[in-house]
Amino acid sequence: MTERPTPPEASTPTPPTPTDFLRAKVAEDVAAGRYGGRVATRFPPEPNGFLHIGHAKSIVLNFGVAEEYGGTCNLRFDDTNPLTEDMAYVRSIERDIQWLGYQWDEELFASDYFPSMYEVAVSLVRQGKAYVDDSTEAEIQEMRGTISEPGRPSPGRERSVEENLDLLERMRAGEFPDGSRVLRAKIDLAAANMKMRDPLLYRIRHAHHYRTGDEWPIYPMYDFAHCLEDYFEGITHSFCTLEFENNREIYDWILQNAVEPPHPQQIEFARLNLNYTVLSKRRLLELVRGGHVDGWDDPRMPTLSGLRRRGVTPEAIRTFCRKIGVAKANSVVDVAQLEHAIRDDLNWTAPRVLCVLDPLEVVVETWPEGETEQLPAPYWPRDVGKEGSREIPFTRHLFIERDDFAEQPPKGWRRLSPGAEVRLRYGYVVRCERVERDEAGTVTRLVCSHDPATRGGEIPDGRKVAGTIHWVSAEHAVPVEVRLYDRLFRVEDPSAREDYLSHLNPDSLQVMTGARAEPSLAGAAPGSRFQLERQGYFYVDPEAESPAGGTLVLNRTVTLRDTWTKQAGRTEDDVRSEERFVDLARGETAPTGQQPSTAPTAAAPAAPAPPRDPLAGLTAEQEAAARELAENHGLPLADAAILAGDSPLRAMFDEAVAAHANPAAAANWIVNDVLREVKDRPLSELPVGGRDLGELVALIDSGKISSKMAKEVFAAMVAGGGRPGEIVASRGLEQVDDRSALATLAAQVVAAHPDAAERYRAGHDKLLGFFVGQLMRETRGKANPQLANEVLQAELAGEPGGEAG
Ligand code: ATP
Ligand code: MG
Repeated sequence: MTERPTPPEASTPTPPTPTDFLRAKVAEDVAAGRYGGRVATRFPPEPNGFLHIGHAKSIVLNFGVAEEYGGTCNLRFDDTNPLTEDMAYVRSIERDIQWLGYQWDEELFASDYFPSMYEVAVSLVRQGKAYVDDSTEAEIQEMRGTISEPGRPSPGRERSVEENLDLLERMRAGEFPDGSRVLRAKIDLAAANMKMRDPLLYRIRHAHHYRTGDEWPIYPMYDFAHCLEDYFEGITHSFCTLEFENNREIYDWILQNAVEPPHPQQIEFARLNLNYTVLSKRRLLELVRGGHVDGWDDPRMPTLSGLRRRGVTPEAIRTFCRKIGVAKANSVVDVAQLEHAIRDDLNWTAPRVLCVLDPLEVVVETWPEGETEQLPAPYWPRDVGKEGSREIPFTRHLFIERDDFAEQPPKGWRRLSPGAEVRLRYGYVVRCERVERDEAGTVTRLVCSHDPATRGGEIPDGRKVAGTIHWVSAEHAVPVEVRLYDRLFRVEDPSAREDYLSHLNPDSLQVMTGARAEPSLAGAAPGSRFQLERQGYFYVDPEAESPAGGTLVLNRTVTLRDTWTKQAGRTEDDVRSEERFVDLARGETAPTGQQPSTAPTAAAPAAPAPPRDPLAGLTAEQEAAARELAENHGLPLADAAILAGDSPLRAMFDEAVAAHANPAAAANWIVNDVLREVKDRPLSELPVGGRDLGELVALIDSGKISSKMAKEVFAAMVAGGGRPGEIVASRGLEQVDDRSALATLAAQVVAAHPDAAERYRAGHDKLLGFFVGQLMRETRGKANPQLANEVLQAELAGEPGGEAG
């Protein structure tokens, strides 16, 4: 029997409270003193491809558990397959793990254990627990039987120990050709678990291994190798993904039959699946080899190297992995959750700058030729609470985004159009006087006038200005190349489809070669991150071959909001993390005497990310106000901080509460729905006041309308103004609260679906949801959901109209 080396005893820190079933098991073992209180994990990649975000889940888990329990975590390359492995993959894996922020205790290679593994095989043969089989792998497969039929023994199963030892030695010596023989464990050909029907332990492969060279003509199978690797290293908890659940019996059998306890234990958890992408090395390799992407580190790839090049931070990936947690059942995680973690991180670390992706020339005819005015512009919105600003030059010749101009603006257009005014961020209000075009009729240039009284966006006479757009001075702007990356697949579940390659998103990369950034970007360090206002978060690609000598390449890491969500409504989280385009120019904060500008530099060894303190950036007075609001009204501190830091929002909140709104709900509406609406216009221009909002919230509180209907009412208020009560009445949006009316409808719905009703009565009570859905359809979503459930249950139970509950 092979001796397990005794690793040094680790000190046991105060045990943390377990947050998942794996940690609960570890905590239990530590408490019971198993393994002498030691915790040792490992991350065991096969070096046959680059790591992807799924691996990150395993890394964060294994290194995280070791860290929390004062244990160790090894990096072990599971290099038992000579055909697909490569030192280049080893290097990329090491780099990715370190980039994620982890350092392994020992770096080990499974191939280093080949001699010890062979000894274990010999000992199993000696005990009569393993035999050489001359069948081919196909024959073995065929003889293994089915779930309902036991397997058949092959001729080699009854060989003597001596003969088996001799054959194994000759396999080892390289005497036999590939595929001619295998070593199998002698377990049970009738086992219910098919994997236990004499699994393969070794096969013959005359192949060159990238580390052991031509030393070995036989290679161990995963099931034989993995448990021994864990054992040799003194691993205590061997976490692996659910596909290996049935392999656990082999894992335990080999250890029990071959080596002395204590044995490591295998515990399975659900692998990470993400929608809109594929997470299998085989498929990622196909994407690379087939030229569908530009290498393993293409920013569209879900690989760690791709995410890094896209500008995603390791912090965001770690946060994402912790947030999704570990569970015992497989599920698919929405990639929007990853994007959310990315935004939430960059919001606090990426300074805001202006860049026009698709420039349209503007001449400000009222501005003297050759004159430049430097306008102060803060790098950070107020809710981030960081200092730092730069100046941006205003001149006669500008660029704006082609998209921000419409000759025939649709209703509700808040950007530029002929004769209309728009505020240039940190600049002046300009009016479009004339449009110039080429022979083809394409708009080539806008001629505008500016209002000198609106410097910094101030509007002295309180007139309405539709919105605020970004711009750059044509004379000062720096050319940059902007790469807009989007999801790689246009279907949610490419990994479930064999023809996944035909579902690639043709628009996953759009290159904007003519983009122009504000001059402060000229010296941006490779690897630095910015928010281009209104466009998204971007990363200065350090690897890109700059096309025109020195041109910066900016990769879009993520958009400012989730543009894929089908419903217009976003989650609360999306909104919170999204840039709030609160107009500093409203004259509330932008101090006149600007600090000397502190230009942001590369992310490289930059200062650690600031703590996510919702109170950061508030003055002592505002902070006190936030705490008071949170306490008095039961608001989440983050909401209270936003209200306390923004006096117009706070005033709106007070008015809403005065109009009998429930304070927490009112705050929630302001922080989410109202802030979204003032993304590109000041609050004073929103036709919804605090009193209106208060009335709307009160309508929900009183049960008059559902919160879903309230969204519709709010949209109508934003579009045209008007009181919520009137909108509800004129559109007939009142919640249907009339029990007898609903009971009548319930009877109709049930009668229309006799089969479903019968199945419900036979015990399929999940079908209630189906009936509720039907009833909701009948009432166009207006039925009081509680009542709808009650009347349907009564109807289905044969007590129509009954007063359930
Ligand atoms: P793939 O399925 O992508 O080819 P793999 O499982 O073959 O990956 P390995 O190199 O064997 O890749 O994986 C190393 C470790 O990472 C293993 O412990 C494996 O369980 C874990 N792992 C791989 N993919 C995921 C995933 N999607 N979610 C969580 N853990 C994963
Ligand atoms: Mg694997």
